[in-house]
Amino acid sequence: MPHTANPQLIEDLVAANHILVNEGVLDGFGHISVRHDKDPSRFLIARSMAPGLVTAADIVAVDLDGVVHDAQGRHTYVERFIHSEIYRAQPGVMSVIHSHSASVVPFSVSNTRLRPICHMSGFLGATTPVFEIRYSAGESSDLLIRNQALGKALADLLGTSAVALMRGHGSVAVGRSIQQSVFRAIYTESNARLQSQAMQLGEVNYMTPGEAQATSDMVDEHLERPWQIWKQEAADKIAR
Ligand code: MN
Repeated sequence: MPHTANPQLIEDLVAANHILVNEGVLDGFGHISVRHDKDPSRFLIARSMAPGLVTAADIVAVDLDGVVHDAQGRHTYVERFIHSEIYRAQPGVMSVIHSHSASVVPFSVSNTRLRPICHMSGFLGATTPVFEIRYSAGESSDLLIRNQALGKALADLLGTSAVALMRGHGSVAVGRSIQQSVFRAIYTESNARLQSQAMQLGEVNYMTPGEAQATSDMVDEHLERPWQIWKQEAADKIAR
């Protein structure tokens, strides 16, 4: 009999789905998961559905081979291997988000790297790695992370970074909590937008690696504040 997850964790996962839609990170696609609090070899994620409509009843458990364990036999997302292989590779990662947020994609298909340009996105570090799926899947793939081998290749590329871009597709953000991964996904999109704007003005003065680290440490102390307002705003929108 599988262990039952903490209801608060499920509630936060549902709220995170709604927040990420409301903040423009997810749309009809993309997903967020959290590692199971009673069984680190499993994670929790919505069944295959639009994230804005997810409720607690839609959450299923998945193991690190990508097998869904659900009494109702429901399926989850094809790209669940993004989550399973990152959880396998990084024991400290507790939450994973995969999105197609639009401002990030240009940085996945050009030679310009996504770099932190403001103090809310220092978690991006010195540079953000870009996953080239052609190296693993050849010239004719549909760009999706459809199996364990592709998930492992992406997890290897991510390493201990907070964010990795996926060429022509989107990005992945990880965190030590749902609140941290949500913060990172939202500010990755924001940084990409700001960096594109700054580049149109001329040469960009990026943060130093030291500034990136210090600001990342600073914002980690304040994850609860934006989480509360994002959650309230998403709930208000759904209520309307
Ligand atoms: Mn995708």
